[in-house]
Amino acid sequence: MPELARALRVNALELLRQPGATKPIEISIPGAELDVVHDQLVGDIVIDVELEAMNDGIEVVGTVRAPWAGPCRRCLIDLSGTAEGVVDELYQVTVIDDDAYPIVDNQLDLAPMARQVALLELDQERLCRADCAGLCAGCGIDRNEASCSCDLTVTDNRWAALDGLVLDE
Ligand SMILES: [Zn+2]
Ligand SMILES: [Zn+2]
Repeated sequence: MPELARALRVNALELLRQPGATKPIEISIPGAELDVVHDQLVGDIVIDVELEAMNDGIEVVGTVRAPWAGPCRRCLIDLSGTAEGVVDELYQVTVIDDDAYPIVDNQLDLAPMARQVALLELDQERLCRADCAGLCAGCGIDRNEASCSCDLTVTDNRWAALDGLVLDE
C-alpha cells in the first residue's frame, strides 16, 4: 500500500480508550491513490478532518477538498475552482448506525469516506452562474453575450412531427 494511503489509516484503539480525545488529520493525496478517477480533477485531494472519540465510536468532522476544472454545463465556458465536501461521519467497531463506516482490525480507514465525498463533489453540476442562459439550441450562439432570432418553437414542431411517424416493426 502506498505510504499516503497508509497515512489515512488511523489506529482507532488508542482513541476509543479515551472518549473525548481528539486527533486532527490533514493530508494531501493524489486522486489516483484514493481510486478517484475523474476528468475534472486537476490536483491533489485534501482531507482535513478531526477525529473525536465518542462512547459508541469515532466521529470524523471536517472537509474533503478537490481542485477541479471543467466546462459550464450550459454555455461550455471553461471554469475551475475547489469543490469542498463537508464531512460528518461516524465510525463504529460494531456498526449500529446505518450510515456509519466500520472500524476493522482497530483501524479507521479514511480512504473510502474521502473517495465518496470527493466523487460526489466532483460530479456536481458546473454553471458559470446560476442564471447562465446557455447556448442557443438553434444556432449555438452564447445567449449570455448575444441574442439571435432563432424561433425554437419551430424546432420543437419539427420534432413533434416525428411523433406521428409509424415505424415498421
Ligand atoms: Zn454558463
Ligand atoms: Zn439562435
